[in-house]
Amino acid sequence: KYGRTFNFSAGPAMMPEPVLEEIRDEMMNYRGSGMCVMEMSHRSKVFQQIADEAEADLRKLMHIPDNYKVLFIQGGGTVQFAMVAMNLMKNGKACYVETGAWSKKAIAEAKKFGEVDVIASSKDKNFSYIPDCSDLDIPDDCDYVYICENETINGTTWNKLPNTKGHVLVSDQSSMFLSRPCNVSDYGLIWAGVQKNVGPAGMAVVIIREDLIRDDLDPKTPIYLMYKTHADNGSMYNTPNCWAIYCCGKVFKYLLNMGGLEEMEKRNIEKAKVLYDFLDSSKLFKGAVVPQDRSLMNVPFVTGDKDLDAAVVAASKEAGFDNLKGHKSVGGLRASIYNAMPKEGVEALVEFLTKFEAEHQ
Ligand code: PMP
Repeated sequence: KYGRTFNFSAGPAMMPEPVLEEIRDEMMNYRGSGMCVMEMSHRSKVFQQIADEAEADLRKLMHIPDNYKVLFIQGGGTVQFAMVAMNLMKNGKACYVETGAWSKKAIAEAKKFGEVDVIASSKDKNFSYIPDCSDLDIPDDCDYVYICENETINGTTWNKLPNTKGHVLVSDQSSMFLSRPCNVSDYGLIWAGVQKNVGPAGMAVVIIREDLIRDDLDPKTPIYLMYKTHADNGSMYNTPNCWAIYCCGKVFKYLLNMGGLEEMEKRNIEKAKVLYDFLDSSKLFKGAVVPQDRSLMNVPFVTGDKDLDAAVVAASKEAGFDNLKGHKSVGGLRASIYNAMPKEGVEALVEFLTKFEAEHQ
């Protein structure tokens, strides 16, 4: 109704329309405060309430136990690559599973702060699967085991968490955050850049078990990069990303009203199935990932011919879709179908691809 396009961007990505409408309605005067949330002091009562509610709603949505802190930290995902290593490498050693572009970036960053053991990798098959991590050799003095739970570029997702043999599990959930139920106690730390499945860019949510918050870090650690700084100050040591907290809070509420994460998972399975069923039956298009490890959020696919891939992308733009080009590192196409992408969007895409295939036989 607004002339909006089906936007398959990997992030920033679509937000639920009712949330955008609410934000619009509150833009000039937030609930009688006489100002927009963008103009509001982060020390004001009215903003404190926004932040408190956002945290409370996220806790409800994910059933976060009391011994975990919820932190809203600026700098997006990339800052977390460094913060995790700076804050959690007590013995100076961590184990990483290499499953694609984003775990590789995390590994490269962690190597600056200590020893990194890559204990499993799917590099041998172009990161098209999740390696078996049920019985890995994990050194006793390893501080944590790190995974990227959904590889945004490669299109894989973990359906069974690694056996960490009692070590702390750290997960980058950026591109699957809140897309399905999550048992928080299985992890020591979960973090997610919010610009994919939740809100606007510029912030990460960090969920950290309290005993992992340390005050004995290298004294040169910048104060902003210590989890303790954020934990001790309710994520308001300095001026937080007020706008992102406000928008994410609205999405948390929206998801609760929709029926929570069980309902989102159900919808996401149904929605992704429409596209995967098409890819499995197509003679032209082929999914890039083994069926059991396919992401419900990011679906990379190819025709096998670069020029034809480019032709599909061009035609998709003309047909009113956006951002279907695969990441430059892997090529082909990619449809990101996060929580806010309606099923009709995926159905329309499949209709378009079916027609394209018929015309190119
Ligand atoms: N991790 C994953 C899984 C991502 O998809 C991204 C961004 N695409 C990042 C980390 C990096 O996040 P940011 O761009 O916010 O630094």
